[in-house]
Amino acid sequence: MFDAHSHFASPDALVCSADALLPSGPALRRGIGALAGGIGLDDATAVLIEKALKADPSLMVGEVGLDRRFTDRVPAAVQRDFLRRSCSLARFYGRPVILHCVRMYGELLSVIREFPDVRFMVHGFSGSEETGRELVRNGVLVSLRPGFPARLEGWVRSCPGKWVAESDFTGTDAALYNEVLVEHYRRLAGLLGTDTDRLEEICRGASEVFADFQTAR
Ligand SMILES: [Zn+2]
Repeated sequence: MFDAHSHFASPDALVCSADALLPSGPALRRGIGALAGGIGLDDATAVLIEKALKADPSLMVGEVGLDRRFTDRVPAAVQRDFLRRSCSLARFYGRPVILHCVRMYGELLSVIREFPDVRFMVHGFSGSEETGRELVRNGVLVSLRPGFPARLEGWVRSCPGKWVAESDFTGTDAALYNEVLVEHYRRLAGLLGTDTDRLEEICRGASEVFADFQTAR
């Protein structure tokens, strides 16, 4: 089942890292990234990411982003500078970017607007409906994880094709992974009044820029 963001290897998932290591195992497409709380957002980490992008033309940038929970340890300005640097690499190497954000959507949007030529996905979206609309207006694909806030359900109903489904799974249990993803698709398909197969088709279509389904399947 198509999965727009995962840390668990699956041939149908966009599999990302947050520690500047290459994800291993099967994936529809891989991303390499770094987040505050995982690894230092410094020159050495940026060099690791650039080396990996150079070596593998299919690699995406991600996940990278901004996280309010870690600003006491990694100041917002440091997180923002590293995010900008990552977006510059994505622009230079022509790669899409998978973004992570916790309670810093205003700052995130201002960075996104600096890179109008880069394709962005915001994974694990947990902002407001208004932020959701603003991301879509800026051409950003929004990805929803299991347990996304119920207050977003109205927005979800209002714009099928503008959001996709992800597991954001970090475990190792394949059966649990499938269960979580199927259950998530059921909830989302229910909101649209459609079935999970049709929803999966919509999500694949919306994610085309982020994964070359032609060659991967
Ligand atoms: Zn993630």
